Amino acid sequence: MKLVRFSTNGQSPRLGMLQGDRIADLQGSLAATLARRGVIRAEEIAASLVPASTRAFLEGGPASQEAVQSITEWITVPAASARLHAPIADPAKFICIGLNYRDHAEEAKQAIPKEPPIFAKWANAILDPGEPILRPRGSTQLDWEVELGVVIGRTARFVPKESALDYVWGYTIINDVSDRDFQFLTTQWMAGKIADTHAPVGPYIADRTEIRDPHVLDLKLWVNGKQMQTGNTRTFIFDVRYLVSYLSNIITLSPGDLIATGTPPGVGFARKPPIFLQPGDTCRLEITGLGTLENPVKDA
Ligand code: ZN
Repeated sequence: MKLVRFSTNGQSPRLGMLQGDRIADLQGSLAATLARRGVIRAEEIAASLVPASTRAFLEGGPASQEAVQSITEWITVPAASARLHAPIADPAKFICIGLNYRDHAEEAKQAIPKEPPIFAKWANAILDPGEPILRPRGSTQLDWEVELGVVIGRTARFVPKESALDYVWGYTIINDVSDRDFQFLTTQWMAGKIADTHAPVGPYIADRTEIRDPHVLDLKLWVNGKQMQTGNTRTFIFDVRYLVSYLSNIITLSPGDLIATGTPPGVGFARKPPIFLQPGDTCRLEITGLGTLENPVKDA
């Protein structure tokens, strides 16, 4: 399934499933299904099994998954009439991996890492599709990074590489927006990574039945229609199995945790001459099977 967070008529976002050009309201559909089966507390139970939060939905584990699979009464709206939000807005952890494509490490003039470089963002950075990326005051080096996003589905601790994908719920697109002038002020990159709006996510999370192999996906990014990045996840230095296993040895991964897996070549600061995002520009990102994520740029 393709999981979205959507809203209509300015109401608060809720979980949906993309079905062609329509979006199924998961909580409403489950409530209707339960009511049809004679369940008196249908709405209350549906709200508990399919809450508005993606993290809470994934925390429901098999109970929530099986509830969605049991839906027979679909309540849908035309996708064109709905607004899409970032498909997850409240991960407990938002972990980013640096320098995970050999050719990007080379263009950035960085050594091939022996273990994955790790940094973090917070949920303040998460941005809905279509909403403006805000260039921080004082930064003139706003840059783009198309990345495969991994959404954890089960608690993972000391997970071996061989079974690591079983702990992944699905995949999405992340733009790891970066302020290069802030990023390289010190040896720690985070000043250039954590600004509000610096992680557009979406448009949906495709589950593992849709993306059976995360290591054969094309990644592309355009600025104002001009293609800037192209890559394929088969050239990962550390693949998704390695990353989930490695991280799970350091920290307990939980349902809804989000991992940005690094970017392929073509970022702005490594180009000759360098190119940085300006107010009025638009970034468009695509990954095989994960749709298109587009955001304009404005000054904060
Ligand atoms: Zn990145």
